[in-house]
Amino acid sequence: MSAPKPVKTEHPRSEEIFRRATDVLVGGVNSPVRAFRAVGGDPIVVDRAAGARLWDADGNEYIDYVCSWGALILGHAHPKVVEAIAAQARRGTSYGMPTELEVELASKIRAALPSCEKVRFVSSGTEATMSAVRLARAATGRDFIIKFEGCYHGHSDSFLSEAGSGLATLGIAACPGVPQALAALTLNAPYNDAAAVENLFDRHRDEIAAVIVEPVAANMGVVPPAPGFLQKLRDLTTRHGALLIFDEVITGFRICYGGAQTLFGIVPDLTTLGKIIGGGLPVAAYGGRRDLMDRVAPLGPVYQAGTLSGNPLAMSAGIATLDLLAAPGFYESLETRAKRLGDGITAVLRESGISATAPRVGSLLTLFFSGEPVRDYAGAKKCDTRRFASFFRAMLERGVFLAPSQFEALFVSAAHSDADIGRTITAFRESLENTTESL
Ligand code: PMP
Repeated sequence: MSAPKPVKTEHPRSEEIFRRATDVLVGGVNSPVRAFRAVGGDPIVVDRAAGARLWDADGNEYIDYVCSWGALILGHAHPKVVEAIAAQARRGTSYGMPTELEVELASKIRAALPSCEKVRFVSSGTEATMSAVRLARAATGRDFIIKFEGCYHGHSDSFLSEAGSGLATLGIAACPGVPQALAALTLNAPYNDAAAVENLFDRHRDEIAAVIVEPVAANMGVVPPAPGFLQKLRDLTTRHGALLIFDEVITGFRICYGGAQTLFGIVPDLTTLGKIIGGGLPVAAYGGRRDLMDRVAPLGPVYQAGTLSGNPLAMSAGIATLDLLAAPGFYESLETRAKRLGDGITAVLRESGISATAPRVGSLLTLFFSGEPVRDYAGAKKCDTRRFASFFRAMLERGVFLAPSQFEALFVSAAHSDADIGRTITAFRESLENTTESL
């Protein structure tokens, strides 16, 4: 595919649609991460997408590194996924009763992540993490949970303190509306700080139900786990009778087919998945040890339900996606592309002498405007977010769409061609030249 044309400075149709959007939708968006508040201007109003490209309502073309926030590892509208959805739609869009499709997708998940002996499908990552924590509390008879500053686990009440993603972008440290009594049960530790977790276990002996972690943090920008960190969490939770929950909503089927738990060789008690397993449709899941999962209704009393859970359209999209990901060489080829992008960015940074780092784990990457390597949320927050904003806008003008926040990942997909990556590196070089450090 050819390089995108420079983006026009006038966007009359998008502006007109977005004006109407702000009248009828909160902030004109249905998820705050889509707003451009941290980078200025109005969000792109999307008309259509294919492969690695998005087109806005004015016909401007962008190379897309948001890819529906990581759901689209195959890029937009992959023909096999579209075909699976269309074929299923003709047979019915929702039954509210069991199907063989659910069995098929759950079996593929269990084959990829053997720690998920049983699986329950839900419709969003938020539901998956919320339900996993409820189950952990029920199984242990304890109320406290430990999470990490800068990690994001969806928007349920227990997770909204010191959270990453949109809360980091908007500077919301604690969310109004969350009862204090519940917020007090969430203990935060700095990411990559196992000693802090140990202290919390000492202070709250026999009170902690679970530690929930993004095994590669990707909601404060990409922050890899320090060597031994995840193993230490496994050891501490086992020693204290708490459960270890890996939130693999981003990393599952992205870092490798078996997710971060396979890459790092750690077996969590419970896992949450989302994004990729739905192939771009609303699916998420939680799964884990059989004895734990069997406490969920109808087998056990831990109640959790959903009208559209296991939706057949979404199951079909997920199955088609996982079939393509299971093809030999898929992850090697994705790694080659992502490495090319990461190496290109690192080389440009080195030439430029700009204080920035570009950590990459597989096809997840962030450009942090900070001279020091970022290992936790405090480090991420030191980044020059004004400089990120001007860099983001310069990239957008050159037809490259990044997440509109310093605290998010770039998602490389199998649809990003060598030409796309070359074009991105050129745009990157030009955009960096056009940004200046904020004082
Ligand atoms: N966990 C993680 C790690 C996530 O990145 C997200 C969303 N980006 C969620 C949970 C919540 O998922 P959802 O937006 O589908 O509710």
